[in-house]
Amino acid sequence: MKYEIVIGLEVHAELNTKSKMFCSCKNESDNKIPNINICPICSGHPGTLPVANKEAIEKTIKVGLALGCQIPDYSKFDRKNYFYPDLPKAYQISQQENPFCLGGSLNVDGRDIKITRIHLEEDAGKLLHSIDADHSLVDFNRSGVPLMELVTEPDIKSPKEAARFAQELRLILKYLNVSNVDLEKGEMRVDANISLSSAPEKLDGTRVEIKNLNSFKSIEKALEYEVKRQQELLDSGGVVVQETRGWDDNKQITVGQRSKEQSHDYRYFPDPDLPPIYIKDSGIDLLKIKSSIVELPQQRRDRFKEEYNLFEKEIEFLVNDKELGDYYEKVVSELRNWIKETELTLSVDDAMLKLSRLSANYLLTDFQALRNLNEFPIDPENFAEFICLLYKDKISSKVAKEVLKEMFNTGGDPTQIIKEKGLTEIDDESEIELIIENVIKENDKAVKDYKNGKEASFKFLVGGIMAKTKGRANPKVIEKILKEKLI
Ligand code: ADP
Ligand code: MG
Ligand code: ZN
Repeated sequence: MKYEIVIGLEVHAELNTKSKMFCSCKNESDNKIPNINICPICSGHPGTLPVANKEAIEKTIKVGLALGCQIPDYSKFDRKNYFYPDLPKAYQISQQENPFCLGGSLNVDGRDIKITRIHLEEDAGKLLHSIDADHSLVDFNRSGVPLMELVTEPDIKSPKEAARFAQELRLILKYLNVSNVDLEKGEMRVDANISLSSAPEKLDGTRVEIKNLNSFKSIEKALEYEVKRQQELLDSGGVVVQETRGWDDNKQITVGQRSKEQSHDYRYFPDPDLPPIYIKDSGIDLLKIKSSIVELPQQRRDRFKEEYNLFEKEIEFLVNDKELGDYYEKVVSELRNWIKETELTLSVDDAMLKLSRLSANYLLTDFQALRNLNEFPIDPENFAEFICLLYKDKISSKVAKEVLKEMFNTGGDPTQIIKEKGLTEIDDESEIELIIENVIKENDKAVKDYKNGKEASFKFLVGGIMAKTKGRANPKVIEKILKEKLI
């Protein structure tokens, strides 16, 4: 392709504050009952006065500090004027010239994407269109919910990178606990701007804005579609019109909606009801906010790579699922305690490498399969004990499945469960021998087949023994004795 792809994103995220942006209504926009979290302020009655929500400002600044933005001492709110039925005041309180955060960057897969600004505004209500299309309803529960908007420089070079940027930003907002960032609920929405320029850094193409993308896949697909559409237009001697387009997910195409409005169309002016904010005098403590910033996803990736013996895929899983990653670390730290009190044939470091691997294995497979959304009914100490039992071959993987299931149901201690359920390992070799002899007697054909060189028959016999012992005998002991008996 003879064009350079130029992409810039505008990402909206609803902040998870207790109350709304300018009133004390509950910030709970997805309440099933419409118009229940509303008051005269957020439904635009005359004579009401907005008061800015400090928690929302602090959360916005927290994001800015985490992304290396500057926090100007002076900021203010502006009115952005337009009419729409979901906007009862006929203006949205937003920030134009003096946002809370300027500059900064976000590293995506090794490349720094520059950030222009992060500002704070209020969300609008929601229109519900009736099926018969002859009327619409409006729900103001979302009206006035704090909405953070992050704008990037036109720095992104491919549809894939745009989607990755949005993913990484979502993860960061989650780690910072400033938003619940559920895209399906519209808690994070992306507008993507794209143009094709004739050479790198030239920015001489006309840009199109695709509004309201609500999945990572649609970000990538919509931008890919636009690249192709604009390229074909330009190649055939046409021009790209500056406009706002929408993404039709069913047809997988973008559709022209309206010509792009300029910012002067909105008649921005400072909101006279809200005093400007001087951070120094506002009671907002930048140092305190800074110190509340936790380890971010990229730092966690790097640290996990260094500390644990894990595959890249496993690390990515544990980084993307922050709760699971936190839990994993608690388990590993319990294991470290346990090691100190145990006689080991390996060095502590080598044993730790094995144990941290084994824990990840179980967390990402059996544990994950049992876990229903964010629930961790098992105490990390108990889970660590479970891993130790496996490590010391005290339970087979078959018994392990049963024990783990029971641990999920009762939250109980694995050793206790094994005792109560009669899953204790059979360590008496003569008892195992007896069972093996029986299985050999009952399976003449398999024994013959094995002796004639059919390896699969050996596995079959082991399976029979496992079934008889309900998985309670050590597989290594079974194999050893069975081999001796079959000579
Ligand atoms: P507006 O005020 O009209 O929304 P901005 O200048 O604030 O426009 O830019 C909005 C978004 O458009 C930003 O994310 C920016 O990176 C992006 N953008 C600006 N110029 C271009 C361009 N030539 N091609 C693609 N995206 C662009
Ligand atoms: Mg904009
Ligand atoms: Zn209200």
